[in-house]
Amino acid sequence: MSFSVPQSRNLVTELPGPRSRELLERRRRAVSRGAGTLADIFMDHGSGAILVDVDGNRVIDLGCGIGVTTIGHAHPDVAAAASAQASKLTHALFTVTPYEDYVRVAEKLAEITPGDFEKRSILVNSGAEAVENAVKIARKHTGRRAIASLDHAFHGRTNLTMAMTYRPWPERAGMGPFPGELYSVPSSYPFKDGLSGPDAAARTIDYVVTHIGASELAALFVEPIQGDGGVVIPADGYFEALAEFCAAHGIVFVADEIQAGIARTGAWYSIEHFDVVPDLVTTAKGIAGGFPLAAVTGRAEIMDAVQPGGIGGTFGGNPVSTAAALATFEVIERDGLIAEAQRVERAFTARIGDWADRFPVVGEVRGRGAMWGAELVVPGTRTPNPGALKAVIGHAAANGVIVLDAGSWDSVLRFLPSVVISEELVDDAASVIEEELARQSG
Ligand SMILES: *Cc1c(COP(=O)(O)O)cnc(C)c1O
Repeated sequence: MSFSVPQSRNLVTELPGPRSRELLERRRRAVSRGAGTLADIFMDHGSGAILVDVDGNRVIDLGCGIGVTTIGHAHPDVAAAASAQASKLTHALFTVTPYEDYVRVAEKLAEITPGDFEKRSILVNSGAEAVENAVKIARKHTGRRAIASLDHAFHGRTNLTMAMTYRPWPERAGMGPFPGELYSVPSSYPFKDGLSGPDAAARTIDYVVTHIGASELAALFVEPIQGDGGVVIPADGYFEALAEFCAAHGIVFVADEIQAGIARTGAWYSIEHFDVVPDLVTTAKGIAGGFPLAAVTGRAEIMDAVQPGGIGGTFGGNPVSTAAALATFEVIERDGLIAEAQRVERAFTARIGDWADRFPVVGEVRGRGAMWGAELVVPGTRTPNPGALKAVIGHAAANGVIVLDAGSWDSVLRFLPSVVISEELVDDAASVIEEELARQSG
């Protein structure tokens, strides 16, 4: 792999630098504070796992703009495909006059999503829009209204998906009212609940039966690995039992793969780590190398339950985005990026896998592929430690390492690097983070 920017950290000013601070001032006057930022460093360009800011600092990106640039920043193949398409046709609206790339993306999604059955897809603009459409489709197919999502879930920020998202703050506070018939049900969170998969599933199912009624439930939404919830990987057997329950009661099982899908966890889709085939899958973030595109894919009889015109939207499946997605799929296959994600898993396991033994402020480290979380606790307890998380993220950013926050208690350090990140960068970034972990442990 070749990169247009050296794959190393290099700071030439303090962070944020003078140009970033200037832009920050203008930002404050022009942009709503509602669009809060994690690190006040304005970026100019990037390549691979490195971002270069407006002051010329090279920073290590362990966030990928929340798991989007999985194949690396400004991938040249994606750039070429998008720019070629941009001078050919930028918009036609598939539901007015169709074009081939939309069909090709749908064909590819049918191939890479789990399940050996006939599938259909629709393309939309954002993850939240995909989730909303999956809700509409599941309701239409089942003739039922109730929708369940798991505790600690993140499904988006539109009015409907905000209500399917677990945390009140900052995602929901003060912005209701929310639509009804949406239920948050207990999940499997081994670090917190200590339950086996079957026991956690029994608790979830009991909640559904006693609060909603199995025959009332249209769909159960799960993130196979919860992202914003704190990189939570459920206990073995949890999803298997839930999927069985859903199948027995005609409930649509939806895997929200918006964050964990598209090679991120060392498989096309993270549900492949479990012995479950979902009825519907939502895809977004990593699908088009940074261009906005999202999809709902699933069983033909469910997807086709909707009347023509029942789903759609002006920009959904935009030609430039579909061209970028096709290039992204090709890069993943040609460059073996699913195997690269598995390499990143080995690198993280080797480099940070023992943090819980080495730093009392770390309660647990967990992850798959290039998706990792470190649960920060008050040393000697399992109490969430949001103060330590803030300190670690601040120290990392000031030293040119972008890491993400997560978790219902704001206490999970989250890593979503590009799958092309080198072992050297993982090591350098980990060393910076460890300086603060040691301080917070002392
Ligand atoms: C990011 C995310 C969404 C929302 O996607 P947007 O493109 O931000 O609307 C939904 N579900 C999951 C699991 C996500 O990570």
